[in-house]
Amino acid sequence: MADCIFCKIISGEIPSNKVYEDENIYAFRDIEPQAPVHVVVVPKEHIESANDITAENSGIVASIFEKIPQIAKELGVSESGYRIVNNCGKDAGQTVKHLHFHILGGTEGGKLY
Ligand code: 5GP
Ligand code: ZN
Repeated sequence: MADCIFCKIISGEIPSNKVYEDENIYAFRDIEPQAPVHVVVVPKEHIESANDITAENSGIVASIFEKIPQIAKELGVSESGYRIVNNCGKDAGQTVKHLHFHILGGTEGGKLY
């Protein structure tokens, strides 16, 4: 997707602070962290939002969730705990229209709801 910030981050056109990468997934530090640990995990395939998850592409979502425990461990929040957040659409405040999951940790017991 030519105009997608996250596609440009995945291709390296926009620099990022990478924390994990494999053939299907890219994870990087959020540029405007909302918690002491704030990483964004994205599929390399451009999927616009959670509304666009289908039987055909849900395997990549499964692989993101399979990798999150390993990423959380490397970030040092595995034991202390973390939130996995997806914002879908306007009323959720989704600002980048490329499916992504936030990993938020280091908040010392903080809940945001
Ligand atoms: P959303 O609000 O769509 O759920 O999350 C988008 C996230 O992407 C925001 O937390 C925002 O700070 C982050 N973001 C937007 N542009 C960039 C960028 O160029 N680099 C990085 N590392 N994060 C970005
Ligand atoms: Zn994209």
